[in-house]
Amino acid sequence: PKTAIIVGAGIAGLATAIRLSAKGYQVNVFEANDYPGGKLHSKTVEGYRFDLGPSLFTMPWLITELFEIHGKNPTDYFNYYKKDVICNYFWEDGKTFSAKADINQFAKEASISFNEKEETIKRFLSDNRKKYDLTHSIFLEKSLHRTSTYLSKDTLKALFRIGGMGINNTLNKSNERYFSNPKLVQLFNRYATYNGSSPYKTPGIMSMIPHLEMELGTYFPKGGMHEITKALFQLAQDIGVVFHFKQPVKQILVKGKKAVGITTDGGDFTGDLVVSNMDVYPTYRKLLANHRQPEKTLKQERSSSALIFYWGINKSFPQLDLHNILFSNDYPTEFKYIFDKKTLYHDATVYINITSKEQEQDAPKGSENWFVMINAPGNYGQDWDTLVTVARQHIISKINRVLNTDIASLIATEFVLDPKGIESATSSYRGALYGAASNSKFAAFLRHPNFSNHIKNLYFCGGSVHPGGGIPLCLLSAKIVHDLVPEM
Ligand code: FAD
Repeated sequence: PKTAIIVGAGIAGLATAIRLSAKGYQVNVFEANDYPGGKLHSKTVEGYRFDLGPSLFTMPWLITELFEIHGKNPTDYFNYYKKDVICNYFWEDGKTFSAKADINQFAKEASISFNEKEETIKRFLSDNRKKYDLTHSIFLEKSLHRTSTYLSKDTLKALFRIGGMGINNTLNKSNERYFSNPKLVQLFNRYATYNGSSPYKTPGIMSMIPHLEMELGTYFPKGGMHEITKALFQLAQDIGVVFHFKQPVKQILVKGKKAVGITTDGGDFTGDLVVSNMDVYPTYRKLLANHRQPEKTLKQERSSSALIFYWGINKSFPQLDLHNILFSNDYPTEFKYIFDKKTLYHDATVYINITSKEQEQDAPKGSENWFVMINAPGNYGQDWDTLVTVARQHIISKINRVLNTDIASLIATEFVLDPKGIESATSSYRGALYGAASNSKFAAFLRHPNFSNHIKNLYFCGGSVHPGGGIPLCLLSAKIVHDLVPEM
């Protein structure tokens, strides 16, 4: 059979390996680390289990499909359930709101809590659904960069209607058109961070993101987020994909404008095609250094990064759920610090994820495993040690004020991940969580396509290329690569 080489065993690399294998390719995956999953990894310390990267799981059918195309029963590998509570929100003035997954319940409770009309909330949600329905098949499920995409009926329909969808507005302005309560606007502005962007810059069309979470649902994988990696890795092995760990790829070999293989310290490996799941920036700068560089794409602004404290907490907090947000008092300034000043804001929005709320075995009895994250600028060589020390103090004070506790005295174990650490663990340029930012209306068109325009048989998948970052889009990138790769 024909052979495919994949550089990187992140979620997108795993999904691409599984899909190309279904197409009949013999697949070899070369991974720099000694584990699969990239950002989707976990670590257990003194009885506390932590998912290190993603914590929010949407669109699970993009995972189960990977088992079905190989005739396997997904539940033999992977199980999950839908959450009734989407997120618990907290503000400094004592206000709280628990967002429910049931749309009618959400609209009713939000209407009372934020003093907005129930019909307006429902109209907002149904407008978001329309935006998603009209655009997802062209922006997310196809290669935007093939002329055939532009000639399809879906595209024409979407382009005609795009004027009314807030593409010329920011997400914040678009949300303000529906709601007058600043707290409800802030709640919906937060969805810009799902692709690492600023609500004051990203276009209003991004209000389709709450549709993904609120109407399509938010889920929890049994065993934690890391089960996604484990299940896909197991499937890949079962269908004959070959993995080479601790094998950083040094170069993509090109002959006569065709990708023909890769080089690692172990030697050269040849294949009929090469797919890079490595961030597109270092793929060009390091693995294709002697080839033409798509400068415009590579110079695109990067999405935000994150600072995460993984804390074993010696107490349980009944007011918290799996996902919790402690909002900043000044959201616009927080985003100015992240994207313009490129430093940390003293009153950052704090996200607390606690998987032991779903499965007690993730923490010792009576304790909880806290993943405490703030959005952060990318790594531009800032003095992270100092920034982290200062931020830790601010985060602790904020948690104490909002939850009325003394959290520092309850921390039983601790480790930290900052943007520099995220960059070095997976080679994502500047430690960006989601590749390029979507801080402009053109961002979707500037992302690197899933194929090379200049080198035949070279493809790209993962969060730094089309259609974007986050688990669902990474899985869709694998699907697009599958569709672009020639039949055997
Ligand atoms: P990666 O996971 O970065 O994998 C790339 C792989 O390639 C790595 O294993 C790396 O070691 C390997 N590699 C790189 N260079 C080489 C080389 N030269 N040779 C061999 N191997 C190489 N997404 C969500 O959907 N929901 C969330 O809640 C969420 N939260 C997040 C929170 C954090 C803290 C982080 C870091 C990310 C979060 N994301 C979230 C984003 C999500 O994790 C990513 O979009 C996704 O995991 C990226 O997958 P990937 O396959 O593109 O890349």
